[in-house]
Amino acid sequence: MKHHTQYLWFNTKNRHDIVNITPQVEEALVKSEIKEGLCLVNAMHITSSVFINDNENGLHQDFLAWLEKLAPYGKDKYKHNLTGEDNGDAHLKRTVMGREVVVAVTAGKLDFGPWEQIFYGEFDGQRRKRVLVKIIGE
Ligand code: ZN
Repeated sequence: MKHHTQYLWFNTKNRHDIVNITPQVEEALVKSEIKEGLCLVNAMHITSSVFINDNENGLHQDFLAWLEKLAPYGKDKYKHNLTGEDNGDAHLKRTVMGREVVVAVTAGKLDFGPWEQIFYGEFDGQRRKRVLVKIIGE
């Protein structure tokens, strides 16, 4: 069995952002030389997400607006922020959007359903944060 591990770094300009990371994951897959297997992609921070959905800008704005309604940003809104942090909202948003995705690798390609792409969801950005890509197979 072959394996490949790679870290992707992000430092978003905005506090909240959604970034299509499919090209970077595809690059990692090419590097791995794996043709059949599984590709795990996970956020390595508890205030950011990795998820699969449509690469459509209106939908991304909808996600961010919906998350803001569920868990609005605000220093005084969360018990977590009594620790001196201001990212209580980001922990909740991350939990809703998920930590990781696993995509099958078939014939050397990410075996997506129609319109599926992989996204990094940032909910407490403007600092360097990591995503892990781990591919196993043969
Ligand atoms: Zn926190």
